[in-house]
Amino acid sequence: MGGTIQLILIGGPGAGKGTQAEAICKAHPIPHISTGDILRREVAEGSELGVRVREIMDQGLLVDDATMLKVVEHRLQCPDTESGFILDGFPRTLDQARGLSEILKRRPVSKVCVLVLSVSDDEMTRRMMGRGRADDTPETVARRIAKFHRETEDAIAYYQEKGQLVRIDGEQGIGLVTRDVLNAIEDYLGWF
Ligand code: AMP
Repeated sequence: MGGTIQLILIGGPGAGKGTQAEAICKAHPIPHISTGDILRREVAEGSELGVRVREIMDQGLLVDDATMLKVVEHRLQCPDTESGFILDGFPRTLDQARGLSEILKRRPVSKVCVLVLSVSDDEMTRRMMGRGRADDTPETVARRIAKFHRETEDAIAYYQEKGQLVRIDGEQGIGLVTRDVLNAIEDYLGWF
């Protein structure tokens, strides 16, 4: 139980969450749970949930908190999460963060480690523009960054108050970010 790693990875678009999640999974075999991926799969399968959330996702809006909490609660019931998990893209609102705390209270280990990959707006913009994706125009990039700040600042403040938050300098080279992330996980394991 002492080795259980319950991580929440928070970062804006282009902050390197996917890359770091991959590096964490190599060092610690825990499932990477991306709520965006789960929802996209539901949409592709045409499930009842998928049909319900498709339009919301297409418009770049947030799926409601009650639905998201049900999705995450269901996923966390899978036995592969016994040794821990990395949550990516969740929680995105204060109510999701509060709801997650309730879900985690019912697990053997309720403590989470929240890693925030800090990258300035300018650097996120530079990285996204560098991807050369058709939907990465200056306007959409600015909108996505603004959306990230609006959505997640309250959730970040919630964890900051609980003393569960670790800020990582996400502007360093990838290897250095990974080093800091893995060190933060070691410190967290020492909390038990
Ligand atoms: P992502 O891949 O994390 O950017 O998620 C893609 C889309 O899925 C978002 O634009 C939302 O419509 C939806 N979504 C994913 N995670 C959440 C969440 N925690 N709360 C609300 N909507 C979400």
